Amino acid sequence: APIISIRNLTKSYANGFEALKGIDLDVEKGEILALLGPNGAGKTTMISIICGIVNPSSGQVLVAGHDVVKDFRATRTMIGLVPQELTTDQFETVWNTVSFSRGLHGKKPNPAHIEKVLRDLSLWNKKDNMLRELSGGMKRRVLIAKALSHEPEILFLDEPTAGVDVTLRKDMWRVVERLRESGVTIILTTHYIEEAEEIADRVGVINGGKLLLVEDKTALMTKL
Ligand code: ADP
Ligand code: ADP
Repeated sequence: APIISIRNLTKSYANGFEALKGIDLDVEKGEILALLGPNGAGKTTMISIICGIVNPSSGQVLVAGHDVVKDFRATRTMIGLVPQELTTDQFETVWNTVSFSRGLHGKKPNPAHIEKVLRDLSLWNKKDNMLRELSGGMKRRVLIAKALSHEPEILFLDEPTAGVDVTLRKDMWRVVERLRESGVTIILTTHYIEEAEEIADRVGVINGGKLLLVEDKTALMTKL
């Protein structure tokens, strides 16, 4: 069975705007899927619903068979999200932010894992710094560390390389590659076709709240 199953998903925001107009999609375990589309296409809305932080208006999303609305406690332990911006308390330390994130995802403390994540992302020497003391790039690294704090089976990256420097971009793809090798399912959003082409197995093209097509990368490249 697919690890993510989305059926007839719609989202209208409180102001009446229809951000998603009936999305159907299955994602297999271990694949890297890129959601490609321009700004405003509905990419962030879609991954926010799968991650359980925005409620759908209608339709269903199952993650490993669990409904993301009704069974949020089960799905939150499986999912890690790297959002575009840091909303965490700026006066907290890197170590506390990342450790706390693990607890929020319903996992028991594991300092050895937190240390590994921080070392992998070159954040170890910043572990006692407050977030407000970090550069923009370091804050992006903290976002990735938070998303990996609880050893998720599915990782979402929202516009991961927008405004990111070359070093971080390389580090990010190294981390993604290692996660892929360990069987983690990865979904990223992007408006760069090169990015989708470079790392994804499959690409979904989204625009105006509709998934226009979903293709293996090689098949897609012959169509564009
Ligand atoms: P929901 O339907 O999920 O309750 P709301 O319409 O109440 O969502 O909006 C949630 C938040 O998003 C509010 O803080 C609102 O100001 C903000 N918001 C409203 N319009 C937009 C928009 N066009 N783009 C991004 N954020 C928006
Ligand atoms: P993308 O990630 O592809 O840029 P989004 O999912 O962020 O697209 O947004 C899709 C559309 O929904 C945009 O037109 C955006 O302005 C609108 N939107 C996003 N959040 C809200 C909100 N809370 N309230 C109203 N409109 C929103």
